[in-house]
Order: sequence, then C-alpha cells, then structure tokens
Amino acid sequence: MTEHAASLVERLTAVVPDFPKPGILFRDVTPVFADPVAFSTVCGALAEPFTDVEAVAGIEARGFALAGGIAVQRGRGVLTVRKAGKLPGEVLSEQYALEYGEAAVELRPGQLPEGTRVLVVDDVLATGGTAEATITLLERAGYHAVGFAALLELDGLGGRARLEGRLPVHTLGAAPA
Ligand code: AMP
Repeated sequence: MTEHAASLVERLTAVVPDFPKPGILFRDVTPVFADPVAFSTVCGALAEPFTDVEAVAGIEARGFALAGGIAVQRGRGVLTVRKAGKLPGEVLSEQYALEYGEAAVELRPGQLPEGTRVLVVDDVLATGGTAEATITLLERAGYHAVGFAALLELDGLGGRARLEGRLPVHTLGAAPA
C-alpha cells in the first residue's frame, strides 16, 4: 500500500518555485486531498505502521485534513495543533526556532485522558522543528506521541534525524528541498 500511495503523492503533488518566498520550492499536496481515491489511499498508508493509535493529532493546516481522514478510517478522534493565537481559552504553547525568528504551536489541554496514544501527522517534514515542538506540546499535555507520519520528507534538512530519537517516523516519499 505504501508504494502505491507514494506514487500517488509523487504524481499529484505540485511543485511551486519561489513560494511563499524566493528560494523556497513549495510542495502543494492539496491535489492529493481533492482526489477521493488518492486521499483515502494516502490516509491508510500514513497510519499503516502504527497499530495501537488512540487519537490522531494534525498540525495546522494541511495536517488537519490528513488527521481527519485517518481518524475516520480508524474510528478515532482528532487533536488540532494550531499556530499561535488561534485558540480561545486555556492553551498550552510551545515555541520553536525558525530560520529567522520564532513560531509557536498551541493545543487545548484536557481533551483526552492522560496517556492517550497519539499519532502526529503533517503534509511535509522539512527541518522537523514544527513536528518536534508538536511532540513536546502533546507530551506536556499528558499524551504519548507514538509516531510521526507525513506525505513527504525533504532531503538534507535533518527532519527525520531530529525526530527519530523520540519516536518512529514514517513518510510516503522523499524529495529535494
Ligand atoms: P519544518 O518545521 O521545517 O519541518 O517545516 C514543516 C512545516 O512547514 C509543515 O507544516 C509544512 O507544511 C511546511 N513546509 C515546510 N517546507 C515546505 C515546503 N517546501 N513545501 C510545503 N510545505 C512546507
């Protein structure tokens, strides 16, 4: 299933030079979401190695679509990990470094029982900073992050190495950064 899913991701992902800023080769995976067979196939393939998952955390924004698809297939719920300033009320916040400046991911605590086994998903793994902050955030909220899955990882940016000391990493394909 992973091989078939990988070929769908490769065929449907659009590569957009200089977006959102000069020098960035943006991987637009939204055509994968728009194709019903491809979407269902990649959701199944992303979660395939992870047998004991009790909830799926999606990283804003494309991770939300993937988390929703996987969660419905597995009969699980979704945790939405949001960018700073989007959630009302009590939030946990985890800052991380960007190439220039800082960003933060946020989560509403207390939505699921302590120790819930959570699979973390996003569209693209680049430096791993967003995923690493998300894993720390989920663990601060009392959950157990059991794996990270993404459609694509970008070569040479160190994302996989950064995460692998903490949890298993599963991607459907790799691409030049
Ligand atoms: P990073 O924290 O460096 O691993 O970046 C991962 C986050 O940024 C993910 O949420 C991706 O959606 C987004 N991202 C980073 N680089 C790209 C890229 N070249 N194309 C599309 N999305 C990207």
